[in-house]
Amino acid sequence: MKILAITNQKGGVGKTTTCVNLAASLASLGKRVLLIDLDPQGNASTGSGVNKAHLKYSIYHVLIGEKMLREVIVTSEKGGFDIAPSNRELAGAEVELVNELARENRLKVAIAKLGEAYAYDVVLLDCPPALNLVTVNALTAASAVMIPMQCEYYALEGLSDLVNTIKKVRARLNPTLEIEGLLRTLFDSRNMLANQVSAQLISHFGDKVYKTIIPRNIRLAEAPSYGVPVLSYDKGSKGAVAYMELAQEITDKEIAGKDNISTADISKEKKHG
Ligand code: ATP
Ligand code: MG
Repeated sequence: MKILAITNQKGGVGKTTTCVNLAASLASLGKRVLLIDLDPQGNASTGSGVNKAHLKYSIYHVLIGEKMLREVIVTSEKGGFDIAPSNRELAGAEVELVNELARENRLKVAIAKLGEAYAYDVVLLDCPPALNLVTVNALTAASAVMIPMQCEYYALEGLSDLVNTIKKVRARLNPTLEIEGLLRTLFDSRNMLANQVSAQLISHFGDKVYKTIIPRNIRLAEAPSYGVPVLSYDKGSKGAVAYMELAQEITDKEIAGKDNISTADISKEKKHG
């Protein structure tokens, strides 16, 4: 099970849009996907067709230990994936957990307890725009991090805070956490500055920048108001095509990663043999 935290404490960079549309695209490639909405804004829930105002239970109840994760999971009908929804109640979790033991581990433990019937291939974590306890829970549970970013002047500002938080989590809570990649979002190829910042990202981070670029595309902004991923709303749009490419890139990376491990194992065996 790959657990990918989609995070950036900067607001409005396309975290939620990426979660919902990547979830739907991975599902269309035959993957079993769970999206966990970790933002009290509940935009991933709404965008997946879940009415956040009428939730009896949400991810909040899981984090405070009142419900099992499987008890709050619902299905995104049009998305083809499962979702653990959220709403404004989640804002209270931060305060309620302050004096609890192992408060950073709540999400990790909840995912581990899912059980065989919930054998997801991929779990996507939609983080809030803050480096708070809920985000730390996501980073503790995750196997890897995806950082969506807009290629604008201030894009790199704040990235070091995020990277420092990731380093701290790695040191104390989750030693195998890795940054899988930086995703260029809301990209306007006619904008010279966007192209410059994009080139800068590649020269700094090389392979860590996903090859897929998510363009600024009105269809991506419209789809959430119908509670559907763009794949259901306008399959041929540039936004839908880009998220399908991203799903494919991530899947290919996964396969290549596994190949690397097996090649390493083989050479180890050779040495010992
Ligand atoms: P927050 O930090 O508030 O959680 P976010 O990082 O999750 O925000 P989104 O909610 O995904 O960002 O996107 C912010 C706004 O930009 C939304 O209105 C969304 O519809 C729009 N948007 C996101 N990506 C694109 C895109 N590629 N093209 C056009 N509009 C987009
Ligand atoms: Mg969001």
